[in-house]
Amino acid sequence: MTERKEIQHRLAQVATQANPVTEKVINLLHQQNLKGVISAEQVALLSTEFQLTPVQLALACLPIAACFALVPVSNFYVGAVAIGESGAFYFGANQEFAGVGMQQTVHAEQSAVMHAWLAGEKALSDMVVNYTPCGHCRQFMNELNTAEKLHIHLPHAQHNPLHGYLPDAFGPKDLDIHHVLFDPQDHALQGGNDALERAAVEAANQAYAPYSQAYSGVALMVEGEIITGRYAENAAFNPSFLPLQSALNFYRLQGYVGRRIERVVLAEKRAVLSHQAMAEDLARSYLALPLERLEL
Ligand SMILES: [Zn+2]
Repeated sequence: MTERKEIQHRLAQVATQANPVTEKVINLLHQQNLKGVISAEQVALLSTEFQLTPVQLALACLPIAACFALVPVSNFYVGAVAIGESGAFYFGANQEFAGVGMQQTVHAEQSAVMHAWLAGEKALSDMVVNYTPCGHCRQFMNELNTAEKLHIHLPHAQHNPLHGYLPDAFGPKDLDIHHVLFDPQDHALQGGNDALERAAVEAANQAYAPYSQAYSGVALMVEGEIITGRYAENAAFNPSFLPLQSALNFYRLQGYVGRRIERVVLAEKRAVLSHQAMAEDLARSYLALPLERLEL
């Protein structure tokens, strides 16, 4: 079964649970070609129609978000919904890649956060997820410009601050970084010989890498359309989110999954570290494509 068919199959299974809220949201996703976003307007309409708060609506969406998971290793489906300050919902799901190292794995909360960031959201107010966030994700979310006030909602516990899950946290301020993840970035990077390369450079330009300055971005050519992803670094280093994962996550959650990826370009600033080897490994293994690389 193709990845798109798998998602559709899982959505059909969730639809059989005869829950009018999930049925309506699944219909909406089909109307928008499996794009895992619910606009602020739709959130308001659905909340009124079903007499739910936005958080209750997001909790109802979790089995749907989990349908976007890619789990060849764990067979364990995690769904997340990041709620933006705009009021929009951004779905996320865990993604594992067969044939490469475990470190290339994407967690559901990371997926939802990165989806919202790439979609242009300026800040997140809430993270809604179907399992308790792991330590890696708690640390990842501590990099957000709203970490101090972000609320976590689980099926069994709602309205808890992130810092309740991460007491005595280590974060960007400990390394004297005050312009953090989701704050606008512009590193004055330029270059590229064609539209795809220029898109990768622009993605690198907006990357968040205050600790290494290894600004990097990826652009995918998808049947003539360009999708990008940006690197997002973390004060604790390992929860950093890699640029190819960022682009593939956007591809998956924005309804492109199933469409042919024709080229992969990594643009990265020459710095103390590089994402070339890991991106090459994933591009070869998962996409059967060579990685094109542009050093800035
Ligand atoms: Zn996690």
